[in-house]
Amino acid sequence: MRYALHWGEARITNMRDVSRDIREFTIVPEHGARPYAPGSHLNVGVIVDGQPDHRSYSLVGAGDGACYRIAVRRHDDSRGGSRYMWSLGEGARLSVTEPHNLFEMEFGRPEYLLLAGGIGITPLIAMAAALARSQANWRMIYAAKSRADAAFCDELTALYGDRIETRFSDEGRRLDLPAEIANLADGAQLYLCGPLRLLDAARSAWGSSGRPLADLRFETFASGGLYAPEVFRVKIPRLGIDLAVPTDRSLLDVLEGAGVEVMADCRRGECGLCALDVVAVEGEIDHRDVFLSDHEKQNNEKICACVSRAVGGAITVETAYRP
Ligand SMILES: Cc1cc2nc3c(=O)[nH]c(=O)nc-3n(C[C@H](O)[C@H](O)[C@H](O)COP(=O)(O)OP(=O)(O)OC[C@H]3O[C@@H](n4cnc5c(N)ncnc54)[C@H](O)[C@@H]3O)c2cc1C
Repeated sequence: MRYALHWGEARITNMRDVSRDIREFTIVPEHGARPYAPGSHLNVGVIVDGQPDHRSYSLVGAGDGACYRIAVRRHDDSRGGSRYMWSLGEGARLSVTEPHNLFEMEFGRPEYLLLAGGIGITPLIAMAAALARSQANWRMIYAAKSRADAAFCDELTALYGDRIETRFSDEGRRLDLPAEIANLADGAQLYLCGPLRLLDAARSAWGSSGRPLADLRFETFASGGLYAPEVFRVKIPRLGIDLAVPTDRSLLDVLEGAGVEVMADCRRGECGLCALDVVAVEGEIDHRDVFLSDHEKQNNEKICACVSRAVGGAITVETAYRP
């Protein structure tokens, strides 16, 4: 999961709004753009609360060797990484890494289904291009709240015609995941990028279909849970800790800020390193990670401190940290 990040300077050369809250940025790195495989992302330096930080953005399209394209959805209820990106103008300088890929494709399968939920379309655009180039048997289903929210939809339809199917909530067309999965050829793969609810539904339908779990490939953007973030208290009685976790900070941020060392790596709910033992919950846990199993989430014995939150009260946890 951990890899060395090599940062370099870059410049935004073009920007365009591709939906009402998604903006595409064309970025030219000083030392040239590298080729990359579909599913790759860039890490981009941002300023959050006056402090340097970084956010990851999937590379849009196949790349032309001269520049990178990313598309950023503006989150108003967030710590501020996307708002920072939206504050930049053409000509702005920023730091970026080389492309990295944690969402790799495998070629040569009899059929592929690409499933995008909202901003999750970004890594799938390069995948569609690669599948089209290799003359694979593929389809994409693009689910979004409405057509106006579905960035790049018209461009994809113009390129690939009826391989692109849409499911817009405001048009009332339901996504029937068990049926979509049942109709796939044996040996098919599903590539999914979208919100946690969509991933949970796909994992459950894929699991029930008896297909190999490794053939459901996904990436999440750690973007939200079942509930809107709300303030809750975190308690560690052994350390005398009783703190409020504000809406714009994670449980991990608050514990680290109080001097509690918590092992952490990916910070987006994938690696499980920051999972803490839950001693008591007043209210509910909004599990936002993709590391714990459904069973573990139901039992509420662990919480991934980087992304998951409590709603409606407080949580008492225990850590391995000994001051
Ligand atoms: C590999 C990868 C690729 C990505 N690609 C894209 C992409 O192509 N386009 C794109 O727009 N984004 C992408 N992202 C997400 C992106 O990196 C940022 O997370 C996103 O821009 C939001 O950053 P933020 O600081 O504005 O919001 P964050 O503060 O990170 O908040 C994001 C969401 O989490 C919730 N949230 C807010 N505060 C908290 C909190 N304290 N604790 C828990 N949850 C909270 C909010 O409800 C919000 O919906 C990608 C992420 C990864 C890991």
